[in-house]
Amino acid sequence: MANHPNDHSKSLDGLRARAEAAWQTGRRDLTAIPPEQLPRLVQDLEVRQIELELENEELRAVRASEDRYRGLAEQVFDGIFVADSQGRYVDANRAGCEMLGYTLDELKTLTIPDVVATDERLRLPEQFRRLAAGEIVRNEWRFRRKDGSIFMGELVGRQFADGRLQGIVRDITERRQEEAELARQAALLDLAHNAIFVRDREGRITYWNESAVRCYGWSRDEAMGHISHSLLKTRFPEPLERIIATLKGTGRWEGELVHTCRDGRIITVDSRWAIQHDAKGEGFRILEVNNDITERKRLERERQEEGRRKDEFLAVLGHELRNPLAAIYTAIHVLSGAPPPPSALRAKMEAVISRQTAMMRRLVDDLLELERITRGHIELKLDRQDLAECLQRAVAAMQQTVASRGQELLLRLPSESVHFMADGARLDQIIGNLLANASKYTGPGGRIELSGTKEGADVIVCCKDNGQGIAPEDQQTIFVPFARGRRHDESYGEASLGLGLPLTKQLTELHGGTIAVESGGVGLGSEFTVRLPLQAPPSDQQVELASKHAPSPRRAQSVVIVEDNPTVAETLMIALERAGHSVHSFADGSSALAGMSGLNPDAVLIDIGLPGMDGYEVATKLKHQDSTKHAICIAVSGFKRRREGDDFDQYFSKPVDVGALLDFLDQRT
Ligand code: ADP
Repeated sequence: MANHPNDHSKSLDGLRARAEAAWQTGRRDLTAIPPEQLPRLVQDLEVRQIELELENEELRAVRASEDRYRGLAEQVFDGIFVADSQGRYVDANRAGCEMLGYTLDELKTLTIPDVVATDERLRLPEQFRRLAAGEIVRNEWRFRRKDGSIFMGELVGRQFADGRLQGIVRDITERRQEEAELARQAALLDLAHNAIFVRDREGRITYWNESAVRCYGWSRDEAMGHISHSLLKTRFPEPLERIIATLKGTGRWEGELVHTCRDGRIITVDSRWAIQHDAKGEGFRILEVNNDITERKRLERERQEEGRRKDEFLAVLGHELRNPLAAIYTAIHVLSGAPPPPSALRAKMEAVISRQTAMMRRLVDDLLELERITRGHIELKLDRQDLAECLQRAVAAMQQTVASRGQELLLRLPSESVHFMADGARLDQIIGNLLANASKYTGPGGRIELSGTKEGADVIVCCKDNGQGIAPEDQQTIFVPFARGRRHDESYGEASLGLGLPLTKQLTELHGGTIAVESGGVGLGSEFTVRLPLQAPPSDQQVELASKHAPSPRRAQSVVIVEDNPTVAETLMIALERAGHSVHSFADGSSALAGMSGLNPDAVLIDIGLPGMDGYEVATKLKHQDSTKHAICIAVSGFKRRREGDDFDQYFSKPVDVGALLDFLDQRT
């Protein structure tokens, strides 16, 4: 008969029960079992044996898994608590016990209300209600330790199906302290002028101060969480890994970074980084303090460029002064050599000296003039000007030069007469410089055109040539002192210091005007346009121009020179005596004051930088001395500018333009 599984199992159960009972009682008596059933029983027992082993295996696995979970629970920093449905503790991990300061056995005698601060107990009924409703609660509690001390804990709690309550508690005292500290620091950092931000170890921004908002343009909310280097498109001076290595090694890093702001501005910052490790030493954050030095860098670059230009200028100046000096030196050698040169040669040599000296004088004048304008010490002597006359004067002055170069100089006068207010001498300088450059930078046979018109309330003077032209990149820099354009092949051996155009520009601007250049580029000629207002702005320092009436015939005057440099004194004396004046000279102020009473001088030329009593004092004393108070006091100075409120009637810079001095003396008598 085929065994029905149920029959089989039923009979087996009976057999097994009996066998187990026998086994349990220790009788181990198998005689009660019919012998024919013994093989089945043995077989069944073997099956049972296997079953038991399997059960054991499962049990072990469950235990192992429980152990594993307990092990895990013991490893975590968070406290894990289990309480029964009444809130009595039934289990807790080690961290939980330590957190509260109880042993597990002690804890098992307590309930949840025992471990929270007294005033927190009021919150418990609500908490239990939420748990019972199946909610997983997450909130902060003030817990009380065994010793009565209180700590802040963050709780995640839930209720199991069997009613037990589980709570996982994290002590957040430190975190709260750090947050409070950070908030304190943040309040301070917001006061800083520097852009400051904090990055976590992933480089994400976790703090962004007020100055960072102003500097970069992103609000705090917009910046938070971004990788700072991506947001700011940081350009590093060295590989980032090296920077991080330095930072980790020394705790600090400093260097210059280039950042791109929200509006696309690119700025350079002086950046200082510091690393801050957290209390547990596991994580870190980087504090970055950035100072925007874009403007400083620009000024530095400008200063360097200016310094470079000045160095170059000094080199050129040395070179340019050497040429006329060499010519003068040679001419003097010829003049003073024996036998004396014939009169034609003599005249030629004298012309060389005169020309070369004039050139040197122009260079030095330009230099001093530029310096004076830069310091705001220039005096504009405004007077009514006739545009046509100004242009004609300038052309007349250049006629000989352009003719010697075979250049054509065309003058276009205004169709109607144009009058305007300007300083005549400065105007001559402005137009003269433009014409001189046009000729200097235009090859032989070239063409220069000077024109003047009135346009609205402005006077326009235009100087155009078909010469060497100006490269586009040079068209702005040529107005900067000492910045000469690209070297030209041809400038007729004339000095080139890069002073003429800056001076022209400054003088134009002093008149309230502008200057502009246009050139198609190298080889395509240039056109300079000066625009002056018909009515130049009044100047504080404006002085009335000395009368421009025709000079009266020269009258011999008594002139005294007070000058400590014997050569200067002697040459001036010769020049004045040749003009018919009677001249006396003194080497210092006191001897001049003492010796002058009987001379009854008409004019006294006084060097300002005298030994002992300076020129200002001498002038003042002269004006208070009866015998000299009517004399005209003329300052003669190399460097010093006229001092406000001094007692001089006129000021001449060294080297003195003798012609102008003689004219002045003539006009004053
Ligand atoms: P300098 O002539 O002594 O060099 P300027 O200040 O007068 O100084 O001129 C500056 C530069 O401008 C010159 O070196 C020259 O390169 C350029 N420049 C001025 N005027 C002209 C012009 N008419 N044609 C071509 N280049 C000119």
